[in-house]
Amino acid sequence: MLKLDFHPSGRHFLQIPGPSPVPDRILRAMSLPTIDHRGPEFGALGREILEKIKRVFKTQGPVIIYPASGTGAWEAALSNVLSPGDRVLMYETGQFATLWEKMARRLQLEPEFIGLPGYESWRHGVQADMIEARLKEDSGHEIKAVCVVHNETSTGVTSDIAAVRRAIDAAAHPALFIVDTISGLASADYRHDDWGVDVTVSGSQKGLMLPPGISFNAVSDKAIEASRHNRMPKSFWAWDEILEANQNGYWPYTPSTNLLYGLKESLDMLLGEGLENVLARHQRWAAGVRKAVEAWGLEIQCQDPAVYSPVLTGVVMPEGIDADEVRKIIYERFDLSLGTGLGKAKGKMFRIGHLGDCNDLTLIATLGGCEAGMKLAGVPLKGSGVTAALDYFASNPLKVAS
Ligand code: PLP
Repeated sequence: MLKLDFHPSGRHFLQIPGPSPVPDRILRAMSLPTIDHRGPEFGALGREILEKIKRVFKTQGPVIIYPASGTGAWEAALSNVLSPGDRVLMYETGQFATLWEKMARRLQLEPEFIGLPGYESWRHGVQADMIEARLKEDSGHEIKAVCVVHNETSTGVTSDIAAVRRAIDAAAHPALFIVDTISGLASADYRHDDWGVDVTVSGSQKGLMLPPGISFNAVSDKAIEASRHNRMPKSFWAWDEILEANQNGYWPYTPSTNLLYGLKESLDMLLGEGLENVLARHQRWAAGVRKAVEAWGLEIQCQDPAVYSPVLTGVVMPEGIDADEVRKIIYERFDLSLGTGLGKAKGKMFRIGHLGDCNDLTLIATLGGCEAGMKLAGVPLKGSGVTAALDYFASNPLKVAS
């Protein structure tokens, strides 16, 4: 057990799938003095951020920023466009889809939660054909919104959002399309406008490489129109006053000034590198980590290679081995944090995050901690995952597009 006054040497390896490691450049930006959030300097910062963030969501429309965790932005999305008693079609991909469905019930919506049978839903992406079939049955248009999670952080599955859009269109259904890309944005390909999403929900502590504390709603014209007539009680989350104040770069309340300094830095880093390069970097890391899992002879939580997540990989433990025991050994012996199995996946798997301030060698070290910890925990391994990943990284250099 670590004592509070004990400080281990070197850096902690924060390889959970968010909060992700924050680059020093962002930490330094956030350490600047807090300024007057009603002054001219802040207005210029606000305007710059609100413009640049659109490029990350790939939208021409507004992006609303809340001083809240991702859960707040989930609530904002539902409560701005829906009314109590509205039926919503939600798809079970894992723990985060499950929590969002629970929130919908608490907000007095009537969610219909569909998915593959049992645990299968936690090992595959959204089945767009099931959404299409359900919407086609709904000839009276009782369903007001379709809600899906893009990158399901509890399983490491990145669903095909364009396919869900096509399904809604094929059913000629007017439902709003609401997508959670809290852990997908800026690590996995995401296109709010091209995919016809009405509200996109995201958070700061994953691909944007910031600490937790701010979250986002990117909104379409159709969503803004719906927000003018919906009847869900709300005040703090209401888009109208925020959008009005945002026109001049301000907020109707005190925003998270220093997190916004960090966001400005993050946007400069991501856009400076080029989003395509950022996405390619994550795909390559994910492929290297999968090589390691394959060499260990273990299973990946996601059973459909077409939807493997570039953000994290879920590693399934053999029957009879408690994944949390393995994680505990890895944490205590190697100062490395891995994601726990959540909900239905509890004890069955752990999650390796490959997002945030990483590089090939931090990932090799992470895989080293996993490999050594699994050996100590008695997990039978076929071969060396570290060597397999190292070989993959060495023979597949990152191709940077200028
Ligand atoms: N949705 C997804 C996909 C997430 O990964 C998370 C958090 O990890 C949330 C929602 C909830 O966000 P928060 O914990 O920031 O409130």
